Amino acid sequence: MADVILIGEVNDGKLRRVTHEILGELVRQGVDPIVVIPGNGLAPSLAEELGKHGASKVVYLEHDGLKQYSTEGYANALHGYLGSKQISAIVTGATAQGKDFLPRLAAKLGVGMAGDCTELKASGGSFTVRRPVYAGKCSKAVEFVKGPAVFSIRPNVLQMETGKAKMASVEKAAANPGTIRAKIVEVHASGGKKVELTEADNIISGGRPLKEKFNILFECAETIGAAVGASRAACDEGFAAADMQVGQTGKTVSPKLYIACGISGAIQHLAGMRTAKVIVAVNKSADAPIFGVADYGLVADLFEVVPLLTQEFKALKS
Ligand SMILES: Cc1cc2nc3c(=O)[nH]c(=O)nc-3n(C[C@H](O)[C@H](O)[C@H](O)COP(=O)(O)OP(=O)(O)OC[C@H]3O[C@@H](n4cnc5c(N)ncnc54)[C@H](O)[C@@H]3O)c2cc1C
Repeated sequence: MADVILIGEVNDGKLRRVTHEILGELVRQGVDPIVVIPGNGLAPSLAEELGKHGASKVVYLEHDGLKQYSTEGYANALHGYLGSKQISAIVTGATAQGKDFLPRLAAKLGVGMAGDCTELKASGGSFTVRRPVYAGKCSKAVEFVKGPAVFSIRPNVLQMETGKAKMASVEKAAANPGTIRAKIVEVHASGGKKVELTEADNIISGGRPLKEKFNILFECAETIGAAVGASRAACDEGFAAADMQVGQTGKTVSPKLYIACGISGAIQHLAGMRTAKVIVAVNKSADAPIFGVADYGLVADLFEVVPLLTQEFKALKS
């Protein structure tokens, strides 16, 4: 029987949450995937953790050239390892990394791919996925005409819990990353203890009117352990860092709670956050399009509302 491959992602020695989310969903649907993690000197605890989430087999695809992520290195190594195997599907998270190497891997395999999917259905060895189109205004179901099915899943849209812990077997396979023509020579981390936007359960985002006062959002976010996001206008004008941008040309997020403060709700912004479970909008204008997707709306001045929210969250916490 053909295998299902889940490509695991490790960041700073830790598995990304989306790997567990996909694993949980596959297991729930009766699929027993092989989790393949490219890297070097990968810790045994990663496989133990995956076992706790229901994985029965983990493959460490190792080579010195995979110590640091590179598009070509990952695509070449995975293609070399998977190319000759009987595989029905290859899936990974629609993270910056997944979005980067998966299309190249699919091209090497000579198949199409579906990116940034929000649902998957496994049935009798074949897969159907659903992905947002037209900046999130519609979604479409995708079937794969030619196997293997290659797709990525948006972080935070699937449940993580499985409740079926196993002792995962670990296999170390030698990988060949081939010739890597473009390498990352330096990484500048954005610093601090910021919660990663794409993995956050709660996000408070600000728009252009915040100007130099994004600190009020950070103060509020800190009280509930939320991440802070921003509209493109706020980023372009230098009020917020570029890695905070949510939207079509920024990050796609699916938190449990998204509080949009002074964000108009342009279609390009909605493309990145409309799958949030609960959306709260604070905007001075009752006509702002953000209210069209909001579950709760406050027609109010954010400079009055945000400090009150901070106060209330603090009171609730204590
Ligand atoms: C190709 C392309 C890609 C794009 N990609 C993105 C993207 O990824 N992400 C993104 O966000 N945008 C993106 N945009 C830009 C997008 O079209 C909008 O211009 C942008 O989202 C607007 O940002 P904003 O809502 O912060 O600002 P504005 O449009 O200026 O809206 C500010 C809002 O704040 C309200 N407001 C003003 N003062 C207050 C106050 N004191 N209290 C409460 N409310 C107040 C106003 O009523 C208004 O609704 C893209 C555009 C293009 C063309």
